[in-house]
Amino acid sequence: MLKPIHRVPCSPALAACQQLMRRFALWLCDPQVCGTSITQVNLQVKMGSAIEGDWLWQLLAGSTGTKALLDKAKRIAGLPPVDKTGLTQWVQAVSALAQHFGPTPPAALPVTPPNGWGARDERWASFKALMVAFYEEGLRNGLPYAANGAATADAALRVSYDQFVREFRAAHRLDPHPDARDVCVLCGGPLVLPAVDHWLAKKAFPLLAVCADNLLPICGECNSTHNKGQKDVHTSGAFSDWFHPYLRHANGAIRLRYDDAVLAVRVESATPTDLVKVQTLDSLLNLGQRWTREFKAEYRRLQREAQRRHIGNVQALQQRLMEYRQDLSAAEPHHEVHALLAETLLDPARLQAFAQ
Ligand SMILES: [Zn+2]
Repeated sequence: MLKPIHRVPCSPALAACQQLMRRFALWLCDPQVCGTSITQVNLQVKMGSAIEGDWLWQLLAGSTGTKALLDKAKRIAGLPPVDKTGLTQWVQAVSALAQHFGPTPPAALPVTPPNGWGARDERWASFKALMVAFYEEGLRNGLPYAANGAATADAALRVSYDQFVREFRAAHRLDPHPDARDVCVLCGGPLVLPAVDHWLAKKAFPLLAVCADNLLPICGECNSTHNKGQKDVHTSGAFSDWFHPYLRHANGAIRLRYDDAVLAVRVESATPTDLVKVQTLDSLLNLGQRWTREFKAEYRRLQREAQRRHIGNVQALQQRLMEYRQDLSAAEPHHEVHALLAETLLDPARLQAFAQ
């Protein structure tokens, strides 16, 4: 979130899919619906359109073995009314995610499965598999929606995972040239082999497996288990201490400072209001630690360059560092860290030390 994040042209298709997932989940929880209700004809009628119904039927009936989604849907449709009520409430609460970032946030989001089901409960596993299939098989192969969110049976228009990643990269490319390096929107480092992150993990919130507010391509390092992975981005279901990539972005809220006392880059908040949110983001992504590593590596590179070019006196070094600072581009990875390094080294006392 060091960089601005925006929705992309195909985001309406993701939003339409989220509505379809919600519609399907709530329909399965309808007391009138049972296992035998799940037919292609019923889905055509109940899922908004024949196109959406046919697509969903394919998703369910086309899967086999342990992945047989039709069986899992029947399992949910066959739940007793009390369980259906609990699951309905859970779906409605999770659907209200955006309200948590508005002026009057609702009660904390449920962070455990509904009905007191354990994380490994077979009913919860069935529901999760159904929802996650919209992402794993559905988005990979193409949603039943065109970029603008309109249902379509035309395979060439259907929005897929690849299209989303392509559009996201294009929309966030700081240098529009196709050969330019991409930058990770979260850490500002190079976006190599981006992975689509579920901001709220799909393991805990499977209903958000496809959701315009919940998906963003980030770099492999941000996405690693050591950093964000599937960690929580809330405090027991409350979001007041957290940024969100789309619903409460951190643009401009993060400042970097070099701390001489500990030889490290500190991640600080531009305003007192954002202090805790900057801290939670830093601890989620280990930004300070990673930026310190980059700061030191770039310092070492400049030091070697100076040695190679026999630049020993303070004046010549100052000249070289001013050139370095001038050449920095905000469109390149690690710009903020490199700019901090230039500023730090140009301080007269540090420049003296660097020259020795
Ligand atoms: Zn990153």
